[in-house]
Amino acid sequence: MDYKLWIDGRWTDSQGGSRMAIENPATGEKIADVIDASRADVDTAVQAAHRAFYDGRWSRLTPAERSLAIWRLAELLEERAEEFARLESDNTGKPFQMVSLGADLPFSVDNLRFFAAAARDTHGHSAGEYARGFTSIYRKEPVGVVGQITPWNYPLMMAIWKIGPALAAGCTIVLKPAPTTPLTTLLLAELIAEAGIPDGVVNIVTGGNDTGQALVEHPEVRMVSLTGSTNTGKKIMKTAADTLKRVHLELGGKAPFIVFDDVDIEQVAAIATLTGTFNTGQDCTASTRVYVETSRYNDATEAIVEAMRNVKIGLPYDDGVQMGPLISRVQRERVQGFVERAKASGAQVLTGGSIPSDHVGGYYFEPTVIVNADQRSEIIQSEVFGPVLTINTFDSEAEAVRLGNDVQYGLAASVWTKDIGRAMRVAAQLEFGTVWVNDHIPLASETPHGGFKQSGFGKDLSAEAVADYKVTKHVMVKNA
Ligand code: NAD
Repeated sequence: MDYKLWIDGRWTDSQGGSRMAIENPATGEKIADVIDASRADVDTAVQAAHRAFYDGRWSRLTPAERSLAIWRLAELLEERAEEFARLESDNTGKPFQMVSLGADLPFSVDNLRFFAAAARDTHGHSAGEYARGFTSIYRKEPVGVVGQITPWNYPLMMAIWKIGPALAAGCTIVLKPAPTTPLTTLLLAELIAEAGIPDGVVNIVTGGNDTGQALVEHPEVRMVSLTGSTNTGKKIMKTAADTLKRVHLELGGKAPFIVFDDVDIEQVAAIATLTGTFNTGQDCTASTRVYVETSRYNDATEAIVEAMRNVKIGLPYDDGVQMGPLISRVQRERVQGFVERAKASGAQVLTGGSIPSDHVGGYYFEPTVIVNADQRSEIIQSEVFGPVLTINTFDSEAEAVRLGNDVQYGLAASVWTKDIGRAMRVAAQLEFGTVWVNDHIPLASETPHGGFKQSGFGKDLSAEAVADYKVTKHVMVKNA
Protein backbone atom coordinates (compact mmCIF):
# COMPACT_ATOMS: atom_id res chain seq x y z
CA MET A 1 0.00 0.00 0.00
CA ASP A 2 1.24 3.43 -0.96
CA TYR A 3 -0.31 6.37 0.89
CA LYS A 4 -0.53 10.08 0.05
CA LEU A 5 -1.23 13.06 2.27
CA TRP A 6 -4.79 13.97 3.28
CA ILE A 7 -5.19 17.68 2.58
CA ASP A 8 -8.36 19.68 1.97
CA GLY A 9 -10.51 16.57 1.79
CA ARG A 10 -8.49 14.63 -0.79
CA TRP A 11 -5.42 12.46 -1.21
CA THR A 12 -2.64 14.79 -2.26
CA ASP A 13 0.82 14.22 -3.74
CA SER A 14 3.82 15.60 -1.95
CA GLN A 15 5.70 18.65 -3.15
CA GLY A 16 9.30 17.64 -2.67
CA GLY A 17 8.86 15.15 0.18
CA SER A 18 10.41 11.68 0.14
CA ARG A 19 8.93 8.27 0.97
CA MET A 20 9.21 6.33 4.22
CA ALA A 21 8.79 2.58 4.63
CA ILE A 22 6.42 1.38 7.36
CA GLU A 23 7.06 -2.00 8.94
CA ASN A 24 5.29 -4.55 11.09
CA PRO A 25 7.34 -4.72 14.32
CA ALA A 26 6.12 -8.25 15.06
CA THR A 27 7.91 -9.56 11.95
CA GLY A 28 10.17 -6.76 10.74
CA GLU A 29 8.45 -6.89 7.32
CA LYS A 30 7.65 -3.79 5.30
CA ILE A 31 3.88 -3.27 5.03
CA ALA A 32 3.43 0.16 3.42
CA ASP A 33 5.03 3.33 2.13
CA VAL A 34 4.02 6.79 3.28
CA ILE A 35 5.18 10.31 2.53
CA ASP A 36 7.77 12.08 4.62
CA ALA A 37 6.11 15.46 4.11
CA SER A 38 8.11 18.54 3.19
CA ARG A 39 7.76 22.06 4.56
CA ALA A 40 5.78 22.93 1.41
CA ASP A 41 3.33 20.09 2.20
CA VAL A 42 2.92 21.33 5.76
CA ASP A 43 2.25 24.82 4.43
CA THR A 44 -0.38 23.50 1.98
CA ALA A 45 -2.10 21.64 4.81
CA VAL A 46 -2.01 24.65 7.14
CA GLN A 47 -3.41 26.90 4.39
CA ALA A 48 -6.28 24.44 3.87
CA ALA A 49 -7.00 24.41 7.60
CA HIS A 50 -6.73 28.20 7.67
CA ARG A 51 -9.29 28.66 4.87
CA ALA A 52 -11.59 26.14 6.51
CA PHE A 53 -11.38 27.95 9.83
CA TYR A 54 -11.94 31.47 8.54
CA ASP A 55 -14.82 30.74 6.18
CA GLY A 56 -16.61 29.23 9.17
CA ARG A 57 -17.53 25.93 7.51
CA TRP A 58 -16.86 24.23 10.84
CA SER A 59 -16.25 26.90 13.47
CA ARG A 60 -19.56 28.63 12.75
CA LEU A 61 -21.72 25.53 12.67
CA THR A 62 -24.02 25.24 15.65
CA PRO A 63 -22.77 23.00 18.43
CA ALA A 64 -25.58 20.58 17.48
CA GLU A 65 -24.32 20.34 13.90
CA ARG A 66 -20.71 19.75 14.97
CA SER A 67 -21.86 17.22 17.52
CA LEU A 68 -23.78 15.25 14.92
CA ALA A 69 -20.78 14.95 12.60
CA ILE A 70 -18.50 13.79 15.45
CA TRP A 71 -21.17 11.30 16.48
CA ARG A 72 -21.32 9.97 12.89
CA LEU A 73 -17.55 9.55 12.95
CA ALA A 74 -17.90 7.43 16.10
CA GLU A 75 -20.56 5.29 14.41
CA LEU A 76 -18.40 4.74 11.32
CA LEU A 77 -15.39 3.85 13.43
CA GLU A 78 -17.45 1.33 15.38
CA GLU A 79 -18.75 -0.23 12.14
CA ARG A 80 -15.20 -0.66 10.86
CA ALA A 81 -13.61 -1.46 14.24
CA GLU A 82 -12.24 -4.81 13.16
CA GLU A 83 -10.53 -3.38 10.07
CA PHE A 84 -8.98 -0.58 12.12
CA ALA A 85 -7.90 -3.01 14.84
CA ARG A 86 -6.20 -5.23 12.26
CA LEU A 87 -4.34 -2.35 10.70
CA GLU A 88 -3.32 -1.11 14.16
CA SER A 89 -2.01 -4.55 15.12
CA ASP A 90 -0.16 -4.88 11.81
CA ASN A 91 1.49 -1.50 12.28
CA THR A 92 2.32 -1.82 16.01
CA GLY A 93 2.43 -5.56 16.79
CA LYS A 94 -0.22 -5.12 19.51
CA PRO A 95 -2.17 -8.24 20.51
CA PHE A 96 -5.24 -8.03 18.27
CA GLN A 97 -7.91 -9.40 20.63
CA MET A 98 -6.65 -8.06 23.93
CA VAL A 99 -5.39 -4.62 22.93
CA SER A 100 -6.41 -3.39 19.45
CA LEU A 101 -9.90 -4.85 19.24
CA GLY A 102 -10.48 -5.34 22.97
CA ALA A 103 -9.29 -1.98 24.29
CA ASP A 104 -8.10 0.66 21.82
CA LEU A 105 -11.03 0.54 19.38
CA PRO A 106 -13.96 0.50 21.82
CA PHE A 107 -12.34 3.23 23.91
CA SER A 108 -11.68 5.39 20.82
CA VAL A 109 -15.33 5.05 19.78
CA ASP A 110 -16.48 5.99 23.27
CA ASN A 111 -14.06 8.95 23.32
CA LEU A 112 -15.62 10.28 20.10
CA ARG A 113 -19.14 9.82 21.46
CA PHE A 114 -18.11 11.77 24.55
CA PHE A 115 -16.64 14.60 22.44
CA ALA A 116 -19.80 14.66 20.33
CA ALA A 117 -21.69 15.33 23.56
CA ALA A 118 -19.06 17.77 24.85
CA ALA A 119 -19.40 19.82 21.64
CA ARG A 120 -22.82 20.85 22.98
CA ASP A 121 -21.73 21.50 26.56
CA THR A 122 -20.86 25.18 26.38
CA HIS A 123 -21.90 25.96 29.99
CA GLY A 124 -23.86 28.83 28.44
CA HIS A 125 -22.47 32.26 27.75
CA SER A 126 -22.40 34.68 30.62
CA ALA A 127 -23.28 38.34 30.45
CA GLY A 128 -23.42 41.05 33.08
CA GLU A 129 -22.96 44.71 33.90
CA TYR A 130 -19.53 45.19 35.48
CA ALA A 131 -18.88 48.79 34.45
CA ARG A 132 -21.55 51.48 34.61
CA GLY A 133 -23.19 51.83 31.20
CA PHE A 134 -21.79 48.61 29.72
CA THR A 135 -22.85 45.00 29.31
CA SER A 136 -20.04 42.45 29.18
CA ILE A 137 -20.39 39.20 27.28
CA TYR A 138 -17.94 36.31 27.42
CA ARG A 139 -17.61 34.26 24.28
CA LYS A 140 -15.66 31.00 24.18
CA GLU A 141 -14.02 31.03 20.75
CA PRO A 142 -12.16 28.14 19.13
CA VAL A 143 -8.42 28.78 19.21
CA GLY A 144 -8.10 28.51 15.39
CA VAL A 145 -5.84 26.24 13.35
CA VAL A 146 -4.21 23.68 15.64
CA GLY A 147 -1.18 21.49 14.94
CA GLN A 148 -1.47 18.08 16.58
CA ILE A 149 1.40 15.63 16.91
CA THR A 150 1.01 12.06 18.12
CA PRO A 151 3.30 9.25 19.36
CA TRP A 152 3.50 5.63 18.26
CA ASN A 153 2.21 3.77 21.29
CA TYR A 154 -1.57 4.18 20.72
CA PRO A 155 -1.64 5.66 17.22
CA LEU A 156 -5.38 5.68 16.57
CA MET A 157 -6.42 6.47 20.14
CA MET A 158 -3.99 9.38 20.37
CA ALA A 159 -5.32 10.76 17.07
CA ILE A 160 -8.85 10.57 18.50
CA TRP A 161 -7.77 12.20 21.79
CA LYS A 162 -6.41 15.06 19.69
CA ILE A 163 -9.07 15.60 17.04
CA GLY A 164 -12.08 14.90 19.32
CA PRO A 165 -11.78 17.94 21.61
CA ALA A 166 -10.41 20.22 18.86
CA LEU A 167 -13.38 19.40 16.60
CA ALA A 168 -15.80 19.82 19.49
CA ALA A 169 -14.37 23.28 20.15
CA GLY A 170 -14.67 24.31 16.47
CA CYS A 171 -10.96 24.34 15.58
CA THR A 172 -9.47 23.12 12.30
CA ILE A 173 -6.58 20.71 12.37
CA VAL A 174 -3.31 19.61 10.83
CA LEU A 175 -2.44 16.27 12.42
CA LYS A 176 0.97 14.62 12.17
CA PRO A 177 1.13 11.00 13.32
CA ALA A 178 4.34 9.36 14.55
CA PRO A 179 6.69 8.37 11.72
CA THR A 180 6.48 4.64 12.49
CA THR A 181 2.70 4.33 12.97
CA PRO A 182 0.66 6.52 10.61
CA LEU A 183 -1.60 3.89 9.03
CA THR A 184 -4.77 3.98 11.16
CA THR A 185 -4.62 7.78 11.26
CA LEU A 186 -4.56 7.80 7.44
CA LEU A 187 -7.47 5.35 7.31
CA LEU A 188 -9.39 7.70 9.60
CA ALA A 189 -9.30 10.32 6.82
CA GLU A 190 -11.87 8.33 4.82
CA LEU A 191 -14.23 8.22 7.78
CA ILE A 192 -13.82 11.92 8.50
CA ALA A 193 -15.03 12.69 4.97
CA GLU A 194 -17.84 10.13 5.18
CA ALA A 195 -19.01 11.57 8.51
CA GLY A 196 -19.63 14.91 6.80
CA ILE A 197 -16.83 16.84 8.48
CA PRO A 198 -16.10 19.48 5.81
CA ASP A 199 -13.00 19.42 3.62
CA GLY A 200 -9.97 21.13 5.11
CA VAL A 201 -11.16 20.77 8.72
CA VAL A 202 -8.91 17.78 9.40
CA ASN A 203 -5.69 17.45 7.38
CA ILE A 204 -3.20 14.63 7.89
CA VAL A 205 0.47 15.02 7.03
CA THR A 206 2.77 12.09 7.62
CA GLY A 207 6.46 12.50 8.28
CA GLY A 208 9.27 12.56 10.76
CA ASN A 209 10.39 15.06 13.35
CA ASP A 210 11.24 17.74 10.75
CA THR A 211 7.67 17.64 9.48
CA GLY A 212 6.53 18.18 13.07
CA GLN A 213 9.02 20.99 13.48
CA ALA A 214 7.67 22.74 10.34
CA LEU A 215 4.15 22.50 11.78
CA VAL A 216 5.22 24.00 15.10
CA GLU A 217 7.07 26.84 13.35
CA HIS A 218 4.18 27.73 11.04
CA PRO A 219 2.91 31.24 11.85
CA GLU A 220 -0.74 30.42 10.99
CA VAL A 221 -0.88 27.61 13.55
CA ARG A 222 -2.33 29.04 16.78
CA MET A 223 -1.75 26.11 19.11
CA VAL A 224 0.26 22.89 19.13
CA SER A 225 -0.81 19.81 21.02
CA LEU A 226 1.80 17.09 21.41
CA THR A 227 1.67 13.68 22.97
CA GLY A 228 5.26 12.53 23.07
CA SER A 229 8.41 12.48 25.11
CA THR A 230 9.45 15.16 27.58
CA ASN A 231 12.44 16.11 25.42
CA THR A 232 10.24 16.68 22.39
CA GLY A 233 7.87 18.71 24.58
CA LYS A 234 10.74 20.98 25.62
CA LYS A 235 11.84 21.48 21.99
CA ILE A 236 8.31 22.26 20.88
CA MET A 237 7.82 24.76 23.68
CA LYS A 238 11.01 26.57 22.67
CA THR A 239 10.05 26.61 18.98
CA ALA A 240 6.50 27.75 19.76
CA ALA A 241 7.89 30.72 21.67
CA ASP A 242 8.98 32.38 18.40
CA THR A 243 5.39 32.73 17.25
CA LEU A 244 3.98 32.75 20.79
CA LYS A 245 1.58 29.92 20.13
CA ARG A 246 -0.18 27.99 22.84
CA VAL A 247 1.25 24.60 23.69
CA HIS A 248 -0.58 21.62 25.13
CA LEU A 249 1.83 18.88 26.15
CA GLU A 250 1.12 15.29 27.21
CA LEU A 251 4.58 13.95 27.91
CA GLY A 252 6.43 11.07 29.50
CA GLY A 253 5.69 9.31 32.77
CA LYS A 254 7.31 7.06 35.35
CA ALA A 255 4.43 5.89 37.49
CA PRO A 256 5.01 4.76 41.07
CA PHE A 257 2.92 1.83 42.28
CA ILE A 258 2.91 2.10 46.08
CA VAL A 259 2.00 -1.04 48.01
CA PHE A 260 1.27 -0.89 51.76
CA ASP A 261 1.43 -3.96 53.98
CA ASP A 262 -2.34 -4.62 54.24
CA VAL A 263 -3.04 -5.65 50.65
CA ASP A 264 -3.82 -8.88 48.83
CA ILE A 265 -0.39 -9.53 47.31
CA GLU A 266 -1.60 -11.88 44.54
CA GLN A 267 -4.03 -9.26 43.28
CA VAL A 268 -1.38 -6.53 43.46
CA ALA A 269 1.11 -8.70 41.57
CA ALA A 270 -1.44 -9.45 38.86
CA ILE A 271 -2.24 -5.76 38.30
CA ALA A 272 1.41 -4.63 38.50
CA THR A 273 2.22 -7.20 35.83
CA LEU A 274 -0.73 -6.36 33.63
CA THR A 275 -0.09 -2.62 33.77
CA GLY A 276 3.68 -3.01 33.43
CA THR A 277 3.41 -5.19 30.32
CA PHE A 278 0.19 -3.90 28.69
CA ASN A 279 1.13 -2.54 25.26
CA THR A 280 4.62 -3.93 26.01
CA GLY A 281 5.10 -1.28 28.70
CA GLN A 282 4.93 1.42 26.02
CA ASP A 283 2.41 3.39 28.00
CA CYS A 284 3.05 6.73 29.67
CA THR A 285 1.02 5.60 32.71
CA ALA A 286 2.48 2.06 32.90
CA SER A 287 3.35 0.86 36.40
CA THR A 288 7.13 1.09 36.35
CA ARG A 289 8.33 1.79 39.90
CA VAL A 290 6.87 -0.63 42.43
CA TYR A 291 7.50 0.41 46.05
CA VAL A 292 6.52 -2.17 48.66
CA GLU A 293 6.39 -1.76 52.44
CA THR A 294 9.44 -3.67 53.68
CA SER A 295 7.48 -6.36 55.60
CA ARG A 296 5.82 -7.53 52.35
CA TYR A 297 8.80 -7.09 49.99
CA ASN A 298 9.69 -10.78 49.72
CA ASP A 299 6.09 -11.95 49.10
CA ALA A 300 5.44 -9.18 46.61
CA THR A 301 8.67 -9.72 44.69
CA GLU A 302 8.10 -13.47 44.44
CA ALA A 303 4.51 -12.98 43.23
CA ILE A 304 5.42 -10.31 40.67
CA VAL A 305 8.34 -12.33 39.27
CA GLU A 306 6.07 -15.35 38.92
CA ALA A 307 3.34 -13.30 37.18
CA MET A 308 5.85 -11.63 34.84
CA ARG A 309 7.24 -15.04 33.83
CA ASN A 310 3.72 -16.16 32.90
CA VAL A 311 2.96 -13.29 30.51
CA LYS A 312 2.26 -14.83 27.12
CA ILE A 313 4.39 -13.19 24.43
CA GLY A 314 3.50 -13.66 20.78
CA LEU A 315 2.33 -12.49 17.40
CA PRO A 316 -0.73 -10.21 17.34
CA TYR A 317 -3.12 -12.97 16.20
CA ASP A 318 -1.81 -15.80 18.44
CA ASP A 319 -4.39 -17.26 20.83
CA GLY A 320 -4.28 -15.73 24.29
CA VAL A 321 -1.31 -13.50 23.51
CA GLN A 322 -0.83 -10.79 26.13
CA MET A 323 2.28 -8.97 25.00
CA GLY A 324 3.62 -8.11 21.55
CA PRO A 325 6.93 -6.62 20.42
CA LEU A 326 8.38 -3.20 21.07
CA ILE A 327 7.71 -0.72 18.29
CA SER A 328 11.09 -0.85 16.55
CA ARG A 329 14.61 -2.19 16.61
CA VAL A 330 15.79 1.18 17.92
CA GLN A 331 13.31 1.07 20.80
CA ARG A 332 14.43 -2.46 21.71
CA GLU A 333 18.06 -1.35 21.73
CA ARG A 334 17.05 1.54 23.98
CA VAL A 335 15.24 -0.75 26.44
CA GLN A 336 18.09 -3.23 26.48
CA GLY A 337 20.55 -0.40 27.07
CA PHE A 338 18.61 0.70 30.18
CA VAL A 339 18.65 -2.85 31.56
CA GLU A 340 22.38 -3.36 30.87
CA ARG A 341 23.29 -0.06 32.53
CA ALA A 342 21.10 -0.93 35.54
CA LYS A 343 23.00 -4.23 35.92
CA ALA A 344 26.34 -2.47 35.55
CA SER A 345 25.37 -0.07 38.33
CA GLY A 346 24.69 -2.93 40.77
CA ALA A 347 20.97 -3.67 40.31
CA GLN A 348 19.84 -7.29 39.83
CA VAL A 349 17.58 -8.69 37.14
CA LEU A 350 15.29 -11.32 38.73
CA THR A 351 13.57 -12.29 35.51
CA GLY A 352 13.77 -11.22 31.85
CA GLY A 353 16.29 -8.68 30.68
CA SER A 354 16.88 -10.33 27.31
CA ILE A 355 15.54 -10.81 23.82
CA PRO A 356 13.46 -14.02 23.75
CA SER A 357 14.91 -16.75 21.53
CA ASP A 358 11.67 -17.28 19.55
CA HIS A 359 9.98 -14.66 17.28
CA VAL A 360 13.34 -13.77 15.79
CA GLY A 361 12.01 -11.36 13.14
CA GLY A 362 10.15 -9.13 15.59
CA TYR A 363 11.35 -6.65 18.21
CA TYR A 364 10.41 -8.67 21.29
CA PHE A 365 11.80 -8.19 24.77
CA GLU A 366 11.15 -10.26 27.88
CA PRO A 367 9.05 -8.96 30.80
CA THR A 368 11.73 -7.83 33.22
CA VAL A 369 11.92 -7.33 36.99
CA ILE A 370 14.82 -5.39 38.50
CA VAL A 371 15.59 -5.06 42.22
CA ASN A 372 18.21 -3.29 44.33
CA ALA A 373 18.35 -0.29 41.99
CA ASP A 374 19.37 2.93 43.65
CA GLN A 375 16.57 5.53 43.83
CA ARG A 376 18.76 8.07 42.00
CA SER A 377 19.84 5.62 39.28
CA GLU A 378 18.79 5.93 35.66
CA ILE A 379 16.50 2.89 35.70
CA ILE A 380 14.38 4.52 38.44
CA GLN A 381 14.59 8.10 37.18
CA SER A 382 14.14 7.75 33.39
CA GLU A 383 11.26 6.56 31.28
CA VAL A 384 12.17 3.18 29.72
CA PHE A 385 8.99 2.59 27.67
CA GLY A 386 9.35 -1.18 27.72
CA PRO A 387 8.12 -4.11 29.89
CA VAL A 388 10.47 -3.35 32.78
CA LEU A 389 9.49 -3.03 36.47
CA THR A 390 11.71 -2.08 39.36
CA ILE A 391 10.82 -3.11 42.93
CA ASN A 392 12.06 -1.14 45.95
CA THR A 393 11.04 -0.85 49.60
CA PHE A 394 9.79 1.84 51.99
CA ASP A 395 9.31 1.90 55.75
CA SER A 396 6.78 4.67 56.36
CA GLU A 397 3.98 6.57 54.70
CA ALA A 398 6.21 9.64 54.46
CA GLU A 399 8.96 7.67 52.77
CA ALA A 400 6.50 6.15 50.27
CA VAL A 401 5.35 9.65 49.29
CA ARG A 402 8.90 10.96 49.09
CA LEU A 403 10.12 8.11 46.86
CA GLY A 404 6.98 8.21 44.71
CA ASN A 405 7.43 11.93 44.02
CA ASP A 406 11.19 11.71 43.53
CA VAL A 407 11.26 11.82 39.69
CA GLN A 408 10.96 14.63 37.16
CA TYR A 409 7.67 13.18 35.87
CA GLY A 410 4.16 13.59 37.27
CA LEU A 411 1.66 11.80 35.05
CA ALA A 412 0.14 8.92 37.00
CA ALA A 413 0.57 6.96 40.25
CA SER A 414 -1.25 4.34 42.29
CA VAL A 415 -1.62 3.59 45.99
CA TRP A 416 -2.56 0.17 47.32
CA THR A 417 -4.02 -0.13 50.83
CA LYS A 418 -7.25 -1.07 52.62
CA ASP A 419 -6.82 1.90 54.97
CA ILE A 420 -8.96 4.61 53.38
CA GLY A 421 -7.48 7.39 55.49
CA ARG A 422 -3.97 6.45 54.40
CA ALA A 423 -5.06 6.20 50.77
CA MET A 424 -6.56 9.69 50.94
CA ARG A 425 -3.49 11.20 52.61
CA VAL A 426 -1.06 9.66 50.15
CA ALA A 427 -3.22 10.50 47.10
CA ALA A 428 -3.33 14.14 48.23
CA GLN A 429 0.47 14.33 48.53
CA LEU A 430 1.45 12.58 45.30
CA GLU A 431 2.33 15.11 42.59
CA PHE A 432 0.73 13.30 39.66
CA GLY A 433 -2.10 14.21 37.30
CA THR A 434 -3.89 10.92 38.04
CA VAL A 435 -3.72 8.89 41.26
CA TRP A 436 -5.49 5.55 41.41
CA VAL A 437 -6.36 3.85 44.68
CA ASN A 438 -6.32 0.03 44.54
CA ASP A 439 -6.07 -0.09 40.75
CA HIS A 440 -3.83 1.24 38.00
CA ILE A 441 -4.53 2.52 34.45
CA PRO A 442 -8.37 2.65 34.09
CA LEU A 443 -9.65 5.81 32.39
CA ALA A 444 -13.01 7.07 31.21
CA SER A 445 -13.74 9.56 28.46
CA GLU A 446 -15.10 11.97 31.11
CA THR A 447 -11.93 11.89 33.25
CA PRO A 448 -9.09 14.36 32.60
CA HIS A 449 -5.73 12.88 31.68
CA GLY A 450 -2.61 15.00 31.89
CA GLY A 451 0.57 15.65 33.76
CA PHE A 452 2.18 17.61 36.55
CA LYS A 453 5.86 18.63 36.53
CA GLN A 454 7.79 17.51 33.42
CA SER A 455 4.93 15.30 32.25
CA GLY A 456 3.51 18.49 30.73
CA PHE A 457 0.30 20.47 31.03
CA GLY A 458 -3.12 20.64 29.45
CA LYS A 459 -5.59 17.77 29.57
CA ASP A 460 -6.63 15.08 27.14
CA LEU A 461 -10.12 13.55 27.52
CA SER A 462 -12.90 15.19 29.58
CA ALA A 463 -14.60 18.57 29.17
CA GLU A 464 -11.29 20.13 30.25
CA ALA A 465 -9.71 19.01 26.97
CA VAL A 466 -12.39 20.85 24.99
CA ALA A 467 -11.82 23.96 27.14
CA ASP A 468 -8.11 23.80 26.27
CA TYR A 469 -9.01 24.38 22.59
CA LYS A 470 -11.05 27.49 23.38
CA VAL A 471 -10.12 31.04 24.23
CA THR A 472 -12.27 33.60 26.04
CA LYS A 473 -13.26 36.76 24.22
CA HIS A 474 -14.75 39.65 26.16
CA VAL A 475 -17.29 41.72 24.20
CA MET A 476 -18.15 44.97 25.98
CA VAL A 477 -21.33 46.65 24.77
CA LYS A 478 -22.20 50.26 25.61
CA ASN A 479 -25.77 50.18 26.77
CA ALA A 480 -26.35 53.77 27.78
P1 NAD B 1 8.59 11.43 20.51
O1 NAD B 1 8.61 12.58 21.43
O2 NAD B 1 9.84 10.92 19.96
O3 NAD B 1 7.67 11.75 19.24
C1 NAD B 1 6.32 12.15 19.40
C2 NAD B 1 5.91 12.90 18.15
O4 NAD B 1 6.61 14.14 18.11
C3 NAD B 1 6.24 12.17 16.84
O5 NAD B 1 5.17 12.36 15.94
C4 NAD B 1 7.50 12.89 16.36
O6 NAD B 1 7.70 12.83 14.97
C5 NAD B 1 7.20 14.30 16.83
N1 NAD B 1 8.39 15.15 17.00
C6 NAD B 1 9.62 14.79 17.43
N2 NAD B 1 10.44 15.86 17.46
C7 NAD B 1 9.71 16.93 17.07
C8 NAD B 1 9.98 18.32 16.93
N3 NAD B 1 11.19 18.83 17.20
N4 NAD B 1 8.99 19.14 16.54
C9 NAD B 1 7.76 18.65 16.29
N5 NAD B 1 7.43 17.34 16.39
C10 NAD B 1 8.40 16.49 16.77
O7 NAD B 1 7.76 10.33 21.29
P2 NAD B 1 7.48 8.82 20.85
O8 NAD B 1 8.76 8.11 21.06
O9 NAD B 1 6.78 8.77 19.54
O10 NAD B 1 6.39 8.37 21.94
C11 NAD B 1 6.74 7.96 23.19
C12 NAD B 1 6.63 9.10 24.19
O11 NAD B 1 5.29 9.60 24.23
C13 NAD B 1 6.92 8.64 25.59
O12 NAD B 1 7.76 9.56 26.24
C14 NAD B 1 5.55 8.60 26.26
O13 NAD B 1 5.55 8.74 27.64
C15 NAD B 1 4.85 9.72 25.59
N6 NAD B 1 3.40 9.55 25.72
C16 NAD B 1 2.73 10.38 26.58
C17 NAD B 1 1.36 10.23 26.74
C18 NAD B 1 0.60 11.15 27.67
O14 NAD B 1 -0.62 11.17 27.59
N7 NAD B 1 1.25 11.93 28.50
C19 NAD B 1 0.67 9.24 26.03
C20 NAD B 1 1.39 8.41 25.18
C21 NAD B 1 2.77 8.58 25.02
